[in-house]
Amino acid sequence: MSKAKEYSWMTKDRLMLYTFVTLAILAIITSALWWPITYKGWSLGLTLALTCLIAVSVAVVLDYALSLVMKDRGPSNTMSAAVFGLIVALSYSLGIPVMKTVDVLPLVAPDAFTYVAAISAVGVVLFKKIQGLLGRKYVNPAAAAKILVLIPFLYEVLLPKDHSAMINLKAPVGYGAPTYFAETVQSCYGNPESPADVFWSLFMVKYHGWPGGASSLAVIVLGLCLFIITRKYIKWRITAAYLATTVIMSLIMTGVYGGDAALRLMFHLFLGSSIFLAFFMATDPATTPLTHCGQCIFGAGLGVLTVLVQTYMNFLGGSILALVIMNLTSPILDKVGLKKPAEAKLEKKLPKARSFEKVKTYQCMRCGACMEVCPHNLSPILIKEAFEKGNSDALRGLSAALCDGCGNCTFVCPSRIDLRNFTLRAKASIR
Ligand code: SF4
Ligand code: SF4
Repeated sequence: MSKAKEYSWMTKDRLMLYTFVTLAILAIITSALWWPITYKGWSLGLTLALTCLIAVSVAVVLDYALSLVMKDRGPSNTMSAAVFGLIVALSYSLGIPVMKTVDVLPLVAPDAFTYVAAISAVGVVLFKKIQGLLGRKYVNPAAAAKILVLIPFLYEVLLPKDHSAMINLKAPVGYGAPTYFAETVQSCYGNPESPADVFWSLFMVKYHGWPGGASSLAVIVLGLCLFIITRKYIKWRITAAYLATTVIMSLIMTGVYGGDAALRLMFHLFLGSSIFLAFFMATDPATTPLTHCGQCIFGAGLGVLTVLVQTYMNFLGGSILALVIMNLTSPILDKVGLKKPAEAKLEKKLPKARSFEKVKTYQCMRCGACMEVCPHNLSPILIKEAFEKGNSDALRGLSAALCDGCGNCTFVCPSRIDLRNFTLRAKASIR
């Protein structure tokens, strides 16, 4: 029998399991909050529960089927597919039919089921599996698939026939004339009366839009719990930078257009698409930058773009478009803020260790953990990529020769990639 090996306690499966449990709790909370709301005989809570079931089933079954067809591309990744399915369902706009776009988007059952299934299928096949063949994922699969499947409706969302009926952010936002912004928000999310009602809707429970963001409070509490448990493996800096930039941008927009600063701020921060995306989509490791500095720039860019899209394109779920645009900058941001390689051996704190009898390997998920534990500040994942491309100049630029074979990078990798082996071979290749 082979000897058990010691690795960091965190594996990709475990990371996905924690994320799945967090998202499932969020789905249950929203489902319960939305259960009493009905439209044409369908409870909104039941609609959400069914969309979750459909999206997860489609994703898991397709992931398994594709893993049989593409055997050489690694094993099936059931937990990752299940997480993807839940994200698809929780980012699919559902709602009570008072929203002006209800005639345009398939927001209610049973149409919503077909679209959620289509987004899940397109996302797994095109943006998870086929995009994965490119060596890295360039855009968030759930966001890109949603935009692709809903393209026929985007025209109406971005250019609605009756613009005057939409919330207009290029104006003072307030609780009365001239824009009646708060009343419009409330007509979409609940029942208006006072500023406290608006705050309650946006922060505690709203009944329209992304189910994942129905309760901003639930998203924040659950998101923070996930960040604390998985802190070395999750890109929480993106969320922090995104939220901070959204605050700054909201204040700038209030300076430009006037109105109630707190109301504009609450709207941009706690809109279902913004708050859910900030905690559960913007941090997707595969499509975001590796370095801390790159992650902060990514989050800030996402905040700026989101507010601009929401203000000037009248696309209130604009964070999803902003996310896809920012994803495309990740290959550049990967190189921003790389630590300077050090000849001296630095002390690095490693996560808790566990013994593993069987070692299951996956493709790199770009969590960046290997870059944090190298005692010489090397970037093992970038060295591996350069080595596989036979790029000796890049290997020299990354100071691969400084690797002393300590194995810290292999120890922490949740995908269990033997990075030590790659870096030592890379070192030998440039001697
Ligand atoms: S094996 Fe090499 S690249 Fe990996 S952590 Fe140790 S010194 Fe750094
Ligand atoms: S190779 Fe590095 S970035 Fe990729 S999964 Fe492993 S630790 Fe994360």
